[in-house]
Amino acid sequence: RIAYVNGRYVAHAGACVHVEDRGYQFADGVYEVCEVARGHIIDMTGHLDRLERSLRELSMAWPVRRAALEIVIGEVVRRNRVTDGLVYVQVTRGVASRDFLFPANTRPSLVVIAKKADPAVNAKRAETGIKVITVPENRWERVDIKTVGLLPNVLAKQRAKEAGAQEAWFVDVDGNVKEGGSSNAWIVTKDGRLVTRPADEGILRGITRTTLFDVAEKLGLTVEERHFSVAEAKAAREAFITSATTVVMPVVAIDGAPVANGHPGSVALSLRAAFFDVAEKRPA
Ligand code: PLP
Repeated sequence: RIAYVNGRYVAHAGACVHVEDRGYQFADGVYEVCEVARGHIIDMTGHLDRLERSLRELSMAWPVRRAALEIVIGEVVRRNRVTDGLVYVQVTRGVASRDFLFPANTRPSLVVIAKKADPAVNAKRAETGIKVITVPENRWERVDIKTVGLLPNVLAKQRAKEAGAQEAWFVDVDGNVKEGGSSNAWIVTKDGRLVTRPADEGILRGITRTTLFDVAEKLGLTVEERHFSVAEAKAAREAFITSATTVVMPVVAIDGAPVANGHPGSVALSLRAAFFDVAEKRPA
């Protein structure tokens, strides 16, 4: 495997950044994960737009020009012969002697990694669906920025695993579902409307989430951006999550209680089936 690290394509096994990289010491960095499907990078424009916003919000510069980054991403995917899998892009504020303040004259660090994944694994998982648990929100207020500071997400998802589930939903103080540890949360109401939390209220604006609005429209489904409670989700007709790596994944249980009959819902499955027809596809 090949990784890209600060201007060089290097063997993945030995790819490294300096011990004084600010990503390592302060989680002072941002990232993106794009899906690669059937030789295409999915929604790269959306992911790079969001990366641009994350960088801007943290007063960080592009490590290389955006057009150059697009080439590097394609090159890492190609060199690793990834036709199905993901590409991970990370930008940190760079390497500097440890100090909280932004270093002067430091170049941001850029790392790009690609990984193969067997699409049959997700397809099979979608046939059975996943289980989620709910956990109190304990992250900072700027989760709209996709930073590498993911410790609460790590702990929540580990807790889910230990409870026999595959995702954890963060819940706000009013009992409303925010999003998953690495996904956005959705429900389908009894009358067939899709509901997801507004993206300006304490969640990450998922790229898959945004594309799904178009997929829903194509299927003639209505989307409501509003709060929904854990109780409403448990009583919903269907529930599902979206993310670049899972695309659309049915949720069949919440905190151990089945959603509807405990099987993946037909709305989630048809959204999943229609997704790649609508998503922007770039040759890798
Ligand atoms: N919310 C969080 C906290 C995430 O980490 C992710 C993706 O990793 C998402 C939502 C989904 O975003 P996207 O669809 O862009 O992958």
